[in-house]
Amino acid sequence: MTGPQPLLTMRLRVAQDVFLIRQLAREVAREVGLEQQDQTRIATALSEVSRVVLGGYTDAEVTFAIRPDGVSTILRVSVERLTLGAARLRAELGHVGRLVDKMEVEDGETGTVVWMARRLSASAPRLTPERLEEIRAGLSAHVPGSPLDELNVQNQQLVTALNEVRAQRDELARLNEELEETNRGVMALYHQLSEELEETNRGVVALYAELDEKSEQLAAASEAKSRFLANVSHELRAPVTAIIGLSRLLGDESSDPLTTEQRRQVELIRGSASDLLTLVNDLLDLAKAEAGRIEPTWGQVDLKAMFGQLRGTLRPLATRDEVTFSVDEPAVSSIRSDEVLLARVLRNLLTNALKFTAEGEVRLTVRAIGDDVEFVVSDTGSGIAPELHERIFEEFYQVPGSKALSGKGTGLGLPYARRLAGILGGALRVDSTPGEGSTFTLRLPSS
Ligand code: ADP
Repeated sequence: MTGPQPLLTMRLRVAQDVFLIRQLAREVAREVGLEQQDQTRIATALSEVSRVVLGGYTDAEVTFAIRPDGVSTILRVSVERLTLGAARLRAELGHVGRLVDKMEVEDGETGTVVWMARRLSASAPRLTPERLEEIRAGLSAHVPGSPLDELNVQNQQLVTALNEVRAQRDELARLNEELEETNRGVMALYHQLSEELEETNRGVVALYAELDEKSEQLAAASEAKSRFLANVSHELRAPVTAIIGLSRLLGDESSDPLTTEQRRQVELIRGSASDLLTLVNDLLDLAKAEAGRIEPTWGQVDLKAMFGQLRGTLRPLATRDEVTFSVDEPAVSSIRSDEVLLARVLRNLLTNALKFTAEGEVRLTVRAIGDDVEFVVSDTGSGIAPELHERIFEEFYQVPGSKALSGKGTGLGLPYARRLAGILGGALRVDSTPGEGSTFTLRLPSS
């Protein structure tokens, strides 16, 4: 469809024509596919215009047409050849404009024109040229009813409109009620949740109090244990040292000669007492560390000197030719730490590495990582299964079946080393693969 497609034109002369035109308008609107409400709107708008026009003692020509309007189609009704001026009509028809999508009043060469438009819905049946022809034929055959008929129709429409309003009002009331109900529900839920939250909070607070109490008890128990260990080990040290001294004296050349068997037994006593002393010393160290009784003496530690010392004191332990023992020149010259404690940790790790490495290499290096320093003790020894990486830091834990190639162990070295690492403000971790070797890394702040 390109231009306007006229459907019907009729003249408006006498008062009865108002009813007629109203009927026709509704008919046309229905035929082109407007919905019932829209049919009533356009019919009412046109009858209002007609009423005003006839009231002004002028007659007019009314044309119904449909025409494209952008992407949609509109039903356009024009009332033409009016002798009333546009200004007056506009003033009188202001209220009518609300019933249609568009209404204009213009003065033209053939008199004043009022035209109105109502947009057809996109879902309405398509108006093909054949369909338009059919509508035209139908309209021209249309015989309008009497004014009474039209009045009846109007009444019917009014009843329908009233029913619709009532239905809407009922729906609104129902919605309001539902809303109120929902609000009540929400409030109840809110109260319930608040109460539950309060209850939970009370529970959490009580739980925390209990937790605090428990951790205090735990701290007290741990302290008691450390104190006990420290005291016992301290008390044990003197007699064990005495046993070692006495057994050494017994076996001395200057003492009375012993039988071979006696000498063997005295050696056994001395060996056992010596193991016991190691254990007692280790226990004492660990107990002191755990009781927080180790106060580091902070100072600038010369790593070159320390590494030299470690190289010297530990070389005698590296007795196997199959194992290379290397303490690299330190890549970091010094750090701020406690020299004695740091040396204890490194010596401990190196001794372990030498103890569990049959061939390959044991190496100590140091590197700077950001503001920290990492000491790395690596070996190509037996290695430790991943699930035991944390267990070896437990007191007395020794990997089952692991055999030290030299010296005995107490299972206290690594827990002690980790404690010292913590006291020095750092951490100790292990990375190890069974059969390939282990790497113990001590990370400390450099200043
Ligand atoms: P120990 O006195 O037995 O050496 P530690 O606490 O120092 O006690 O070590 C605990 C256990 O961890 C050792 O008994 C050993 O089984 C294992 N372990 C420690 N270091 C190494 C290592 N470098 N290679 C293999 N196993 C190790």
